[in-house]
Amino acid sequence: MQNRKIKYSLIIILLVISLILAGVIFYAKNQELRVIFLDVGQGDAILLSQGSRQILIDGGPSEQILLEKLGQYVPFWDREIELVIATHPDQDHIQGLLGVMKNYRVDGLVETTVKSESQLDKKFEELLAGKKIAKIKGEAGVTIKLGTAQLDILNPSGETPNGVVKDTNAYSVVAKLVFGQNSFLFTGDLPEKEEAKLLEQGVDLKSTVLKVAHHGSKYATSEKFLEKVAPREAIISVGKNNRFGHPTPETIQRLEAQKIDILRTDEVGDIEYNCAEVESECALSVN
Ligand SMILES: [Zn+2]
Repeated sequence: MQNRKIKYSLIIILLVISLILAGVIFYAKNQELRVIFLDVGQGDAILLSQGSRQILIDGGPSEQILLEKLGQYVPFWDREIELVIATHPDQDHIQGLLGVMKNYRVDGLVETTVKSESQLDKKFEELLAGKKIAKIKGEAGVTIKLGTAQLDILNPSGETPNGVVKDTNAYSVVAKLVFGQNSFLFTGDLPEKEEAKLLEQGVDLKSTVLKVAHHGSKYATSEKFLEKVAPREAIISVGKNNRFGHPTPETIQRLEAQKIDILRTDEVGDIEYNCAEVESECALSVN
């Protein structure tokens, strides 16, 4: 009787181990690209993942909220995030990243040479100093591969100040992700003046999905910029009843005038695109 019990227990344990292993292999080999705009309140955090590789663009304003969100989308056995992109050192973009640095192994970090005068930015840099993370300078011309997808950095370009600046938004890392016929433009908090520079440079901005800059501030997302990007959908990452009045009616009107569908994290929660094949359109869902 006792022997039988042990035998059955062993079979069950082996079965569970095989199932977990099968899950890990399936997860790692899955080539589907996922682009998830995480609902982190007033701030930005965007997770790109393909198989067991992840790129995180910004971390939102809270370590706890971001870690909870990552827990939903990154399996518990995957404690590694291949690349973190800090678009600019503002609290609503980097606070959550501190939690990621403490709880995950981060292999690489893309950031600009621009610093903010805030204590938080100093804390962030101190935390980084003690870690073995490959640093990549965020500037136009840098290309990052994620499976069959490609992420091209479009901004900042030219001379970037090395140190503290007042307007960190102007040096936001702007990047375009291309997966077959699908493309996503991530704009950080880029102001209108810098949008104009991208237009002047003739950068290929056309994208299926636009992450609206600066949470829908009226000082970004100009009519001309929208005409060039010509997105089907616009994502606004914004907190409910935030004190900045984001998104502003002006920006909403500009988007509506060009018949662009608007999706807001404060209204629908996490916004996810599932891209299975390069030839087909990414499937949109909200959680
Ligand atoms: Zn912001």
